[in-house]
Amino acid sequence: MPHSVIEKPAERSVAAYDVEALRRDFPILNREVHGKPLVYLDNAATSQTPQQVIEVFSDYYSRYNANIHRGLHTLADEATAAFEATRHRVKAFLNAEDARQIIFTRGTTEAINLVAQSWGRSQLSAGDEVLISMLEHHSNIVPWQLLAAERGFTIKVIPVDAHGALDMQAYRELLSERTKLVAVNHVSNALGTINPVKEMAALAHQHGALILVDGAQATPHQQVDVQSIDADFYAFSGHKVYGPTGVGVLYGKQALLEAMPPWQGGGEMIKTVSFDVGTTFAGIPHKFEAGTPAIAEVIALGRALEWMEGVGVEAIGAWEAVLLKHATQAVSGIEGLRILGTAPHKAGVLSFVVEGAHSQDIGLLIDQLGVAIRTGHHCAQPLLHHFGVEATCRASFAAYNTLDEVDTFVAALNRVIGMVR
Ligand code: PMP
Repeated sequence: MPHSVIEKPAERSVAAYDVEALRRDFPILNREVHGKPLVYLDNAATSQTPQQVIEVFSDYYSRYNANIHRGLHTLADEATAAFEATRHRVKAFLNAEDARQIIFTRGTTEAINLVAQSWGRSQLSAGDEVLISMLEHHSNIVPWQLLAAERGFTIKVIPVDAHGALDMQAYRELLSERTKLVAVNHVSNALGTINPVKEMAALAHQHGALILVDGAQATPHQQVDVQSIDADFYAFSGHKVYGPTGVGVLYGKQALLEAMPPWQGGGEMIKTVSFDVGTTFAGIPHKFEAGTPAIAEVIALGRALEWMEGVGVEAIGAWEAVLLKHATQAVSGIEGLRILGTAPHKAGVLSFVVEGAHSQDIGLLIDQLGVAIRTGHHCAQPLLHHFGVEATCRASFAAYNTLDEVDTFVAALNRVIGMVR
């Protein structure tokens, strides 16, 4: 056993964690890239999908493919039941009060746009302020900029310190009676910083503001409890929690969702439609789910969450912390390597730049050695500019990564740096 960290686990969940058994659920992990075994460390962009989730698609399309909610036939009933079962699973996954507070979207991006276009368009105007943070993904910046251009409100930015942690003192000072919304990520995709969203929610509420939490990077790594956070809105994506692309979730407080106008019109979201007296809308969640949704994807998301819960969300997070610690220590010895994001509370993301080596070159060359990392601005350009860089290399960990893979990555990184310098 080469890694003492396994022999002396900090937590029981790590000791019991059987990463080799769990890897067998992921067929893609057996493939080779450029003749080398794949080491997949781009999980913050998209996590891989277990066989149990992949099978949902062939099962759905070979047995009960039908449009949901409208049909009276058996296939439609079965598809509707499976689709709605995911809503209940997501309710439990987030500890929402009621399944009707779970709205299916195409992903986090669409969930945030829904809040902007429905709640934001009807509630925000000149004189109002929306606070976002320097850590935001473009998907929690641009929807607010688009709306601000139209509605005339102001966007203010909560700064970060040198470690990439939010400046909470500055946050307190930015909050005022003008603040209508705080829109902040739970975990930063670019740096891995875990933000104190519960504390932020309490402070926002003291000023009468709402809080929207972008949970795209938190849901893969930690148990989320929207009631404990007291989030007004919470969003996440299926493809980062071992599920498929094309599906995501918006949670909202019931009274807010009920008061919000629809943002897209079409089938499924109406009660009655008339040319004479206009249209009345369905209740939540259907009011926000116009058109045929990604049915198989939603069902598969339910299966992915079941898979995660089978392993244990907290156990996954604890394992990733072991991987992150090991990787951080291992790369710290590399000359000229600078880690961006050294906040005390971090999820499994390692972002770095190497003096004298372009991140893009590192990404391309390390791929030749079978290692998949992400290079670029990670859809967080303001943050990277704040740190004075255009791009970083980012290795990000998931449930199925191993300490040996971390070692392979670090050895490959050393080789590549030697080639480009
Ligand atoms: N927010 C964060 C923090 C993210 O990491 C991502 C995905 N990189 C998104 C939002 C957008 O998610 P999606 O592309 O699935 O809509």
